Amino acid sequence: MLTAIFGGTFNPPHIGHYEMLAALQKRRDVGEIWLMPDRVPPHKVCDFLASDRDRIAMCERLAEDFSKVRLCLVEFEREGKSYTFDTLSVLQKQYPNKSFALVCGGDMLTSFDTWHRYRELLTMAPFIIFRRIGEDKALFDRKLAQFRKLGMRVTVPRSVISAVSSTEIRRDIANAGNLLPKKVYDYIMTEEIYRG
Ligand code: ATP
Repeated sequence: MLTAIFGGTFNPPHIGHYEMLAALQKRRDVGEIWLMPDRVPPHKVCDFLASDRDRIAMCERLAEDFSKVRLCLVEFEREGKSYTFDTLSVLQKQYPNKSFALVCGGDMLTSFDTWHRYRELLTMAPFIIFRRIGEDKALFDRKLAQFRKLGMRVTVPRSVISAVSSTEIRRDIANAGNLLPKKVYDYIMTEEIYRG
């Protein structure tokens, strides 16, 4: 049974993330899903980053509907940048009996070869990579083939995820109600996040 690690900035978590969790929840080969908000995103220059407390609270609300999901705050417990390679190394040492898999969206494939120690990372655990509606399928397949040649083990689930991103939601929070899980939307409104 796999423990699927689903890392991200979740600034905020949206229906795309929700659909990914729903698809993972249904998979028989996945026993647990660890939702892992990152502390200092190494690849991102971000217009507005909600506080750690708010991102954790929003992730808790995102996770509520799924029995297999729990929050993993290991990246919050470490100082400095959190690279996936380092995080996975720590987790594999800490939990030698678990088989981890890494979850991400297809957009990650285009920047994957810039990730810290990606050549080692791609053989350290299998990947579950979700397609997004409207993405460049030829590019996705080309990148997948390239990384498979280097030893990456990948599953591409049948579910194709809605084309939504946290960036577009932050830009127009007043009209983002249908792009967010209800509990997350209510939290954002109550706490008045992304209003700047
Ligand atoms: P931002 O717009 O701020 O870059 P994001 O919407 O991409 O954010 P993240 O929190 O960075 O959200 O995403 C976490 C993970 O979820 C990443 O692996 C990303 O590829 C994946 N993901 C996010 N949105 C989608 C989507 N609509 N379809 C498929 N995968 C997605």
